[in-house]
Amino acid sequence: MYNFSAGPSVLPYEVLKELSEACLDYNHTGISITGLGHRTLEFESIIRGAQDLFHELLDIPQRYHVLFLQGGATMQFSMVPLNFLRSRAAYLDSGVWSQKAIKEARRIGEVLVVGSSAAQGYRELPSDYDIPHDADYLHYTSNNTIYGTEFLDEIKSDIPLISDMSSDILSRPLEIEKYALIYGGGQKNLSMAGMTFAIVDPDRLPAISDRYIPSLLDYGNHINAHDILNTVPVTAIYTAYLVLKWIKAKGGVKRMETLAIEKSEMLYAAIDRSKKFKCCVDKKSDRSRMNVCFELQDKLSSEENFINFALEHGIYGIKGHRASGGLRASLYNAMSIEGVESLVKAIETFDRQSILTP
Ligand code: PMP
Repeated sequence: MYNFSAGPSVLPYEVLKELSEACLDYNHTGISITGLGHRTLEFESIIRGAQDLFHELLDIPQRYHVLFLQGGATMQFSMVPLNFLRSRAAYLDSGVWSQKAIKEARRIGEVLVVGSSAAQGYRELPSDYDIPHDADYLHYTSNNTIYGTEFLDEIKSDIPLISDMSSDILSRPLEIEKYALIYGGGQKNLSMAGMTFAIVDPDRLPAISDRYIPSLLDYGNHINAHDILNTVPVTAIYTAYLVLKWIKAKGGVKRMETLAIEKSEMLYAAIDRSKKFKCCVDKKSDRSRMNVCFELQDKLSSEENFINFALEHGIYGIKGHRASGGLRASLYNAMSIEGVESLVKAIETFDRQSILTP
């Protein structure tokens, strides 16, 4: 089966194979990776290896800390304002996930929503917005997993950026220095469910804060504890380490970007050619390379038929999110060109069949 799920999602086969061996016997230690202590020397070399590779692959300056936490991207929606919001923060509203981030930030302090594409049903990115110079940061969701829109160009801003990159981290190079923080759930382009990454610039954390921050929600505490404050998700971090090694062996993040362009262009072209389907995002510059959202042109037909048809052809996980409906194919780094080709073929065959038999 080709797994097009939005997350938890496909992992490279080589990673799954090594992981399954480590589940039985990690590195000839005779114990499983699932039972490896987070304070052992063996784990120390795994977590440092993963952090070093993150730095290397995304060219992250040394002062930034790469943290592996729990609580999902959702917990970051609270950690961001608790740690970074001093007077007021600017947010872009590009869909459900940014709305959730805004809601949590409003519990903590003043939030300005500087741009929104709610009126367009989030089928495009917010445009024509001004970023206030005096805001503490601008928060945005770089890839909108539900709606299939993505900020492919870095946002121009003279205040620090904070971004939820749950679904497009490691799919293209980034200008890291612009960011005070990049975070995301690990269950898409990085690892399995159960771990969250946070790339933090400690120099941009407020030096003194009179706000009460629960210990585990304070980035500074994690950094002071050498990034292992409590029991970290050992197996998920090990999986991330294997994925990062896999990305490096495949040619790095630039190569992932080239493949993401190739895969997404192939699929969008097939949808645009189709007589039965259409893409949910019209503006080509806003289309996500990671989550391709499409739907039937005939509003009265049900997508369920195609989901079942695709399943019979080895294609899994293309049902759209419950908030948006329709169809969605996620093309994360681990999705192969062959997988995308088989989806294209299924679209073409379904198109022909349904035209022949209305
Ligand atoms: N942000 C984005 C962009 C997401 O796609 C998701 C999950 N799909 C989340 C946040 C929420 O992540 P989690 O379930 O890890 O809290």
